Amino acid sequence: MGRIIPLQGLAPGLLPEEASLARPEQFYQDSAATYRHIFNVVREGVLIYTWDGRLAETNQAALELLGYSRQQLLGRQTRFLAAPGRKQLPGLFRALRLALAGRPQQLEFWIRHGQGHSLPLQLKLVRGEFGGQPAIIALARDGRQQSPHFDPLTGLPNRNLLGERLRLEMGRIRKHGGRLAIAYLDLDGFKPINDELGHDIGDQVLRALGQRLQGLIGPRGSVARIGGDEFICLLPLKPGEQHGPRLELLLEAIASPCLELTPRLSLSGSLGVTFFPDDDESPDLLLRHADLAMYEAKRQGSNRIAYFDVAAARRENELQQTRRAIRLGLQQQQFRLFYQPKVDMRRGTVVGLEALIRWQHPERGLLPPAAFLPAAENDELIVSIGQWTLKTALAQIQSWWQQGLNLGVSVNLSARHLHHPEFMAHLQRLLADYPTLEPGQLELEILETTALENTGRAREIINSCARLGVGFSLDDFGTGYSSLAYLKTLPATTLKIDQCFIRDILHEPGEVAIVQGIISLARAFRQQVIAEGVETAECGALLLQLGCDQAQGYGIAHPMPADQVPGWLRSWRPPALWQQLADKRWAQEDHSLLAIGVEHRHWIKGILEYIGTGQPLGDDSLFDPGMTRLGRWYEGRGRALYGDSPEFANLEAPLRQIHVSVQEIAELLAREQPQAARQRVAALEAQRDQVLAALTRLQLRVAHPVQGSRLQ
Ligand code: C2E
Ligand code: CA
Ligand code: CA
Repeated sequence: MGRIIPLQGLAPGLLPEEASLARPEQFYQDSAATYRHIFNVVREGVLIYTWDGRLAETNQAALELLGYSRQQLLGRQTRFLAAPGRKQLPGLFRALRLALAGRPQQLEFWIRHGQGHSLPLQLKLVRGEFGGQPAIIALARDGRQQSPHFDPLTGLPNRNLLGERLRLEMGRIRKHGGRLAIAYLDLDGFKPINDELGHDIGDQVLRALGQRLQGLIGPRGSVARIGGDEFICLLPLKPGEQHGPRLELLLEAIASPCLELTPRLSLSGSLGVTFFPDDDESPDLLLRHADLAMYEAKRQGSNRIAYFDVAAARRENELQQTRRAIRLGLQQQQFRLFYQPKVDMRRGTVVGLEALIRWQHPERGLLPPAAFLPAAENDELIVSIGQWTLKTALAQIQSWWQQGLNLGVSVNLSARHLHHPEFMAHLQRLLADYPTLEPGQLELEILETTALENTGRAREIINSCARLGVGFSLDDFGTGYSSLAYLKTLPATTLKIDQCFIRDILHEPGEVAIVQGIISLARAFRQQVIAEGVETAECGALLLQLGCDQAQGYGIAHPMPADQVPGWLRSWRPPALWQQLADKRWAQEDHSLLAIGVEHRHWIKGILEYIGTGQPLGDDSLFDPGMTRLGRWYEGRGRALYGDSPEFANLEAPLRQIHVSVQEIAELLAREQPQAARQRVAALEAQRDQVLAALTRLQLRVAHPVQGSRLQ
């Protein structure tokens, strides 16, 4: 080893003063050995570079720090150690030149460690001499201790550096493809280790774990400790590579390195994972997503992996966006109320209108409630919407009143709004703003299911509103499970029969039975009843016969803007069919006569559907006239009740005709002639209508007149 000229400041402190005074020659003889000793025991790495930049000598500490053997390093240029991808060589060369000129330098320099990863060094460069030539002595320390990039305890990257690496890796994947698992790891049960075994053991566990994780992740990935007992692993995956087994390994690794340190205490981890680019967000958000997934793993009981649900997050994101847009829309008055008339079919009058919200969206056009209300439903936003709706409806009632139209409006309210603690107070203030309003002009519609949510409270509100003259409808009635006992306590309400029972009521005997049931309930508890979704005059006529006088639906009018309402009111005429039924009612025993037409339609509908499928006929009782309800009713109950009436006798011919027709179609199908069967469809429909017309004549014959055009 050559002679080293020590740097200033180091020498005086190390030399025994009296030695230099007493025996200077001896000191110089001993100094070579002394320096060699120092050289090999100092904890700093010492690297001696010749003036032309080759490594001439290095100590053991440097080799350990850099992760290379002497042979690998000796004779190498300074640039050999430089970490790739960092523009630090010009700075290094400048510092080397200055140091060689006698001006000591300090700098941070990133090397590529012998194991492949990058490592920052704190370098001190001073001029020295080696083999009689000027040389540079580099004193190197692990830069992670002071570095803003590393965790001092484990030496792993910290959150800063991890963020940087994540950004780099994302850029690489965007360019070259691949996938990255971002795994957030939180230890379960680390606190007891610290508490019971002391912080020293705790620190050792963290260090051991850090090393273990780094080994599993490999040089292409990264492990960072980001605080306490939390780590983040970046795990690049090859195309098609399964992530499961590799992540499982991480979990398994958590228990093992600590066994000898903490034999009595078990340690496990909760891992939350998200994948880039499946989850294509900013680095910060990706880490946040992994963190959220980790909480989910903890919530599920720890010691497990949970994956971030990208689709759910996207939905949530869209939801938030819609909510923001709705708030803005409310501010900018983009919402409208449309009004759909409710009529009394028997009297041929309009009983009120239902207000239905629409969103006049600046880009998407006119939106129905289904396009935006669900986003507002579980949020305070639905209360703001409800308040806007109430206010707008009241203003509209007032405006019509000023035009000489005395119209009532019903407003749909959400459960959340109804149960809002300020609801009654707010409603009262609103009503006070419209003193010309008459009781009953405002009605509130709540879903039957809402009224059932918190029955006591709902009843209180309904009754308080009744005292203010504000009525209630139980909307979509029949879809909930109201008990008789509960209905009895809500006297001032209207039951609004759900559309789903009305839609097919002409063909579905089951729905007739339900609607009859609801009408009876309403009668028993002195409630109003209204059917919604009435699309045809025939449908309305049947409801009228069954005793439901009020109706709403496309068959009467579609919802319309407020300014079209007066014109519609002037031009609307109830269908002749309803006028014909207006002064009729039927006794309870005649209800089977009303329902039997539906049975007949149902039967023919089934046959038409069968013909439509083109299937050959097997053994199908559908085509057996003897099995039809109408056929059996005609011979049994029908004959017993109405056998004397000529209208009853007039049913026989069309009935016989249709039965013959059905049997002929059955034979065609059995002989596999679906085409021929199809040609009989129009005739069959005409025959069905003849039966129905004959039934109607019988119904009208047995009806009782209603005094004052009012049922019961
Ligand atoms: P809803 O209260 O049951 O209102 C009846 C819905 O059926 C309306 O749909 C109406 O346009 C539609 N409709 C009326 N007649 C017929 C018909 O003959 N056939 C068919 N197929 N449909 C008919 P819309 O306007 O899309 O409203 C849907 C739902 O949105 C409403 O159902 C109500 O629950 C809710 N909604 C509407 N406006 C508001 C509001 O201002 N606030 C709240 N909270 N909910 C509202
Ligand atoms: Ca409604
Ligand atoms: Ca409804």
